[in-house]
Amino acid sequence: MSTVDRERLRDLMDAERRRFATDHPRSLELFERSKRSLLSGVPMNWMTRWAGGFPVFVREAHGAHFVDVDGREYVDLCLGDTGAMAGHAPPAAVEAIARQAANGITFMLPTEDSAWVGEELTRRFGLTGWQFALTATDANRFVIRLARELTGRPKVLVFNWCYHGSVDETFITLHEDGSVSARAGNLGPPVDPSVTTKVVEFNDVPALERALADRDVACVLAEPALTNIGIVLPEPGYHDALRELTAAAGTLLVIDETHTICAGPGGYTAAHGLKPDALTIGKAIASGVPAAVYGFTPEIASRLGPMTSEQEADTGGSGGTLAGNALSMASMRATLGEVLTDAAFERMIALGERFTSGVESVISDGGLPWHVTRLGCRAEYLFSARRPRTGAEAAANADGELDAYMHLFALNRGILLTPFHNMALMSPATVDWDVDRHTAVYAEAADSLIA
Ligand code: PMP
Repeated sequence: MSTVDRERLRDLMDAERRRFATDHPRSLELFERSKRSLLSGVPMNWMTRWAGGFPVFVREAHGAHFVDVDGREYVDLCLGDTGAMAGHAPPAAVEAIARQAANGITFMLPTEDSAWVGEELTRRFGLTGWQFALTATDANRFVIRLARELTGRPKVLVFNWCYHGSVDETFITLHEDGSVSARAGNLGPPVDPSVTTKVVEFNDVPALERALADRDVACVLAEPALTNIGIVLPEPGYHDALRELTAAAGTLLVIDETHTICAGPGGYTAAHGLKPDALTIGKAIASGVPAAVYGFTPEIASRLGPMTSEQEADTGGSGGTLAGNALSMASMRATLGEVLTDAAFERMIALGERFTSGVESVISDGGLPWHVTRLGCRAEYLFSARRPRTGAEAAANADGELDAYMHLFALNRGILLTPFHNMALMSPATVDWDVDRHTAVYAEAADSLIA
């Protein structure tokens, strides 16, 4: 990024890294100890992706804050990359989880909560035939399988730089010359992804039309706005075109609301009147207890019912022993009924606006060629002047060095951002002070680069 002197940035980063190591001796000690038993010293490989060289180990978390093992407190704008969007340990969910845990965790039988949750999902998203999984990844995998079965077609279509979990069919990259390849970093892909998948740029209607023309695509799996390569919003009319073209081609439209639930209580789908054939969502819906769901139009659900309840259902490739367990159900009921409520979203979205205007004022005061994009209660800044309209444009504008510096600068001053990009999310427990604290630290970071 031309406005930042790279040598100066590296010196600043070195200073932040030294400060981080000095301030987090207990986390460092636990990291060194964990390296002897855990792969790369962490229980899940993404936990290596923090800018300080090692992760902070968490002691406890409540609402929008957490405290690490060194006793330092943070405003959490990462919220477990959306898994904790309900806020940490929301009392209604904690109470329901404790009650259900004491009364049995999993039965391979339904509880009354599952009836309530099904009705609430229908109220929010307007679909039916709901089924449960433990992760959004699994919900997407299951829907893809069912779409192939329903349509008798082999392929899936996704958008360049999408992310839908560790779903093999989605790890494909479209290059400028039109060629495709496995997404960088994808380990041990089962087959060349071009065998299973077509990929086009988001917001590119002609490319979508061409890709669907062969009528070999079972489903389009789409985030309604890309949120995993920064935020890329749909252009006016794009969703109408997506719906019309998929319907005309006999391709099912699957909307993944796992992140875009930030747009409102019924996700982007309800906020913008989308009419998908199927919808998936995971992460936040049970306050972080593993749970995900997928649902369909009544017409599709009526075709799926007999198919998935056959004698051989357990080899059908969807479901799982712990899916729809009583603990997840109890937590989902409490989360949807009492935490991520319609009223909570109003407050959260207002905080998203406050966050965005704070960041925008820093950008304009400093004359910086940066911008911030908001979707409901989620916001994301990018260190480029132009708002990207495709995944490729967003990826081309990424600035890894600057991202790492801004993240570590914020972390050293008690603000946690999402590690993969510059994302901030508001929970029902987030308050003005948390947002304003971020604005102050962001201004300080911007000053340090300009000075
Ligand atoms: N869909 C979307 C849109 C996501 O952003 C993610 C995770 N970032 C997933 C699905 C997968 O979620 P999980 O890792 O919990 O399976």
